[in-house]
Amino acid sequence: MDAIVIGSGPNGLTAAATLARRGWSVLVLEAQHRPGGACYSEELTLPGYVHDVGAAFFPFADDSPAFRDLDLTGAGLEWRNAARESCHPAPDGSCVTISRDPEQSAISFGEDGPAWRRLALWRRAMGDRLAAALLGPLPGFGAALRLGPYHLAWLAREGLGSTASFAVRHFRTEAARRVLPALALHVDLGPDDFAGAGLGLVLALLASGPGFRIPVGGARSITHALIRRLEEAGGVLRCSARAERIVVRGGRAVAVRTSDGDEIPVGRAVLADVGPLALYHRLLEEIPATAGMRRRMRHFRYGWGTFKMDWALSGPVPWTAAEARQSAVVHAGDSVADLRSFTRQVRGGELPTNPYLVIGQQSLADPSRAPVGGHTLWAYSRVPSVVEGGWAAQREAFADRIERRLEGLAPGFRSLIRARAIFSPPDLQAMNENLVGGDLGGGSAHIDQQLFFRPAFPYFRYRTPVRGLYLASASTHPGAGVHGACGYNAARFALHDYLASRVA
Ligand SMILES: Cc1cc2nc3c(=O)[nH]c(=O)nc-3n(C[C@H](O)[C@H](O)[C@H](O)COP(=O)(O)OP(=O)(O)OC[C@H]3O[C@@H](n4cnc5c(N)ncnc54)[C@H](O)[C@@H]3O)c2cc1C
Repeated sequence: MDAIVIGSGPNGLTAAATLARRGWSVLVLEAQHRPGGACYSEELTLPGYVHDVGAAFFPFADDSPAFRDLDLTGAGLEWRNAARESCHPAPDGSCVTISRDPEQSAISFGEDGPAWRRLALWRRAMGDRLAAALLGPLPGFGAALRLGPYHLAWLAREGLGSTASFAVRHFRTEAARRVLPALALHVDLGPDDFAGAGLGLVLALLASGPGFRIPVGGARSITHALIRRLEEAGGVLRCSARAERIVVRGGRAVAVRTSDGDEIPVGRAVLADVGPLALYHRLLEEIPATAGMRRRMRHFRYGWGTFKMDWALSGPVPWTAAEARQSAVVHAGDSVADLRSFTRQVRGGELPTNPYLVIGQQSLADPSRAPVGGHTLWAYSRVPSVVEGGWAAQREAFADRIERRLEGLAPGFRSLIRARAIFSPPDLQAMNENLVGGDLGGGSAHIDQQLFFRPAFPYFRYRTPVRGLYLASASTHPGAGVHGACGYNAARFALHDYLASRVA
């Protein structure tokens, strides 16, 4: 084999397909019985109800350079949008919603409509330069400068603040002020955290641009399209094949040993779609070259845990807020103060009393997810990875708490439930060992683990101290999300290094 890719998440498959399309012979080893990592769909509740096991909304569907290069729509992937993108209702009846149409959003933002319109039009003016700057490899001076010096300075200044301070500066109503803090809480960034506004703003702008896109047939359709691109270029995917050891000789990765005892030689590169702890502490044996990274990776921090639920419903969710009935994603977070107290509780190791929720309504845009008349619902909250008494004892009661919260925003919701599935942090990690402690982001999203520090300086360009070995997972820049960029960038470095070694 020219290359072995360990792990078939979206980054692993993107890396593998990219290399295969450049003529390399590629083998992907996947520990689980099915591919896709956190980008897959299964009938988790009842027959005919298709639920996304992890990622569900894809704002980088069109703009990701990796997905563009692989032409995933040409590989059979079909995207849909709901009528609205991100709805933020509260029990007091207030509600604002981001739509792709800036005017529709501006009406929803009411008094804050002009402020929102300015942001949405700014995003429109940036076009796909924004995705290129966000997703390309670092240092990325060219892509950053293409945004224009004024826009770059504005983005940097605003992005380095907290979401709460951004909200106070730009919006007057509480309903508008809670939007960015709710979006940044997709990861472990609370309303007052330094540089939280960067992530909150990016997600808000993406919602207003391409939107929170929904693949027909479920997140697994993305994985299937990637596999198609891999296999048509001659690449091979092997499931139920866990990589146990990367064999290093003379400072270079030369083979991968699997759980069934095979040792597969590799000629050019190994790309690992795994966490940095797993790479440096399990897959690599102790060698002097990696001693420094082994030590540093002991301090690599994972983000909070995730508590995820799926429901099979007999009808659409009867939200009190009419806009929520049309929205791909609904966020439950009553106010900035409510999100602050949620953050405090999760950081303090407590189960949140009023769980913040990211709620997904995929079947609104893709009826293939449920039997006729039925609907799916997907939601997660952020929680401590470990709780007093253990998750096994807490999960049902916490799931009931989440349902009570939904019932408050949509009276009658519980009467529609036909079945539910619950995934606490240990359940998520059992499904995919990259979701350490239930963290959905491959590592904390705080600024000290982003950009040049992901996973650690100076290894922010996918290379490792072992020649021919690359880290290609969401634990590298640009981090969490299904955009394939970590894998794509890592593959391009592997290609570059191989060509450079031939010239030398
Ligand atoms: C609940 C949840 C909701 C999310 N929502 C969204 C969303 O709406 N939109 C979005 O863009 N992103 C979302 N994400 C994040 C997104 O899914 C991840 O950032 C993305 O899947 C990371 O891709 P990856 O390829 O780095 O790793 P993963 O998808 O984690 O895949 C890693 C793969 O490697 C395999 N593996 C690990 N170790 C080994 C080994 N030793 N040998 C062989 N195989 C191995 C694993 O089994 C797994 O299949 C969500 C994640 C979760 C969990």
